[in-house]
This record gives sequence, structure tokens and C-alpha cells, in this order.
Amino acid sequence: MDKNKTVEILKKYDFKFTKSLGQNFLIDDRVLDDIIESSNISKDDIVIEIGPGFGALTRKLLGKAKKVIAIELDSSLIPILEEELEEFDNLEIINEDALKYDFNNLNTEGSKFKIVANLPYYITTPILSKLIDYRNIISSITIMIQEEVARRIVSKPNSKDYGALSIYIQLYCNTSTVTKVKSTAFMPQPKVDSQVIKLEFLDKPKVDLINEEYFFKIVRSSFNQRRKTLSNSLKSLGLSKEDLMKSFEVSDIDPIRRGETLSIEEFALLSNNMVKIK
Ligand code: SAM
Repeated sequence: MDKNKTVEILKKYDFKFTKSLGQNFLIDDRVLDDIIESSNISKDDIVIEIGPGFGALTRKLLGKAKKVIAIELDSSLIPILEEELEEFDNLEIINEDALKYDFNNLNTEGSKFKIVANLPYYITTPILSKLIDYRNIISSITIMIQEEVARRIVSKPNSKDYGALSIYIQLYCNTSTVTKVKSTAFMPQPKVDSQVIKLEFLDKPKVDLINEEYFFKIVRSSFNQRRKTLSNSLKSLGLSKEDLMKSFEVSDIDPIRRGETLSIEEFALLSNNMVKIK
């Protein structure tokens, strides 16, 4: 959907954007095509789209997928979507908050869902956390999000963007950057640039963890003050200094390293050893 078409729909329905709902609609067809191509949708797939807006992405998805389930919070958009996309019989529109909706209510029809969305940015982290919780019924997520968060999600060790969010997502998914998108591709124009990223769920978490909660506690503490060494960051996690040093030693990790240098595998090794020694 280009700028002219978006303006036409705006006028036709006298629609007013709601900033608090993250309503920045895509007006660049090339970006829509990049999202479609990278999401790798076929006629076997059921796609869940979060936040269809005027249906720019939805229309393209409908042409590729077996079915599209579009979850939109803004009830004033529902009649617009129904009218603009009336020629499609493979669309289901759900007027709900995607953060609250129980995806188990939806029928996967024997395969897993693919999630595709130009996300409202205010829900990025909570929705990702929710989608991870539903990973048994989701195979991949292709999303447009703000650039700064996208970089944090795909980052590898020894980069300034690598942190607890990178580890959280990469524990469950292979991550990749699809394309960078300038703020001029949206109406109204947001303040920041965006990126499309793709997350593909692994069959099982990337590493074996004795205690997942403790692993994340260690990860968060290691990045709390990025300049601190691991031995300083992990002081208050219930181990004596001696036991903490022993955990570093059996894990073959130098305690003067900083959290940002550790791979997920090293964090897993360290946390498993800390759990055993504790
Ligand atoms: N997909 C359209 C596009 O690409 O042009 C619109 C994307 S716009 C960035 C985000 C959309 O998400 C808006 O339509 C907004 O109303 C909707 N939205 C906001 N919060 C939502 C929520 N919690 N659940 C479902 N939809 C939401």
C-alpha cells in the first residue's frame, strides 16, 4: 500500500491515528515485499498478524497463506479491514489485545503458526516474551521493530548491543536481520528507524539448563553494570566467594572477564556449575 492509497483510506473513513497504539502504517511497498519474502509463507501456512492497521501487509499475506488471523486492538479499524479485504475468504479478524489474547484458542490445523507483524513498538518486549511462551505452536516470527531493539536481539558477544535480551531470545531462536527501514517508510513518520528481523524457533533451547530462572538471574546480573568483572557482578547470588571462584574454575572462565564477552554456552556452563556448587 503506497502513500496515496493510505491517504485515500484515511479520508474515506475519516480515520485518526492513535499515537499511543503505535499506529505508524507502512507506505513503502518494497518493505512489505521484503517482509513477505523473508517470512517464507506458503499455502500450507496459517499466519497470525499482530496489528493489521489498514491491512497493507494483511492483503499480501492473504495472497500467500492458507489463512491469516489478524489480531487488532483498535475497534475503529475492524470495519475498515472488513470492507477493504472483503474479497478474501481466508481472513479471520479478531478484535483483541494481542498481549492478552490466548493463542491456544486458535486452531493450528495440524501445523505451527507463523507470526508476521509490523509491531506497535510499545508492545515489542512483552509480545516477544509471550510468543516465546507459546513456542510449541509457533515456528517463526518475522517482525518490524525499532532498530535499537532489533540490534540488541540479534547481537553476538563482544558487541555493545549484546545483553540479556540477546541471550533471552537466542536461547530459543535463530535470529537474523532481514532489512533496515528508514522512518520515511511510515505514516505518520516515527522518530526512529526500524529493522525487520526474523526469529526461527529451535526444536529445544540452545543449551541445557539445570535451573532456567537462575541462569537468567546470572545473565541479568552480569549485564547490570557492563564495566564490572564477572566476579564482582555475581557476588550477591548466594555463593560464598570461595564457591564462586570454584565455579569459575571448573567452568574454565576467567573471573576478570566481563559479561558481554560470554557466549550463551559459557553462561549456561557457569550457571549450571554455580547451581551444582551452591
Ligand atoms: N500492519 C499495519 C501496517 O504495517 O501498516 C499497521 C502497523 S502499526 C505499526 C501497529 C498496529 O497494531 C496498529 O494497527 C495498532 O492499532 C495495532 N495495535 C496496537 N496495540 C495492539 C495490541 N495490543 N494488540 C493488537 N493490535 C495492536
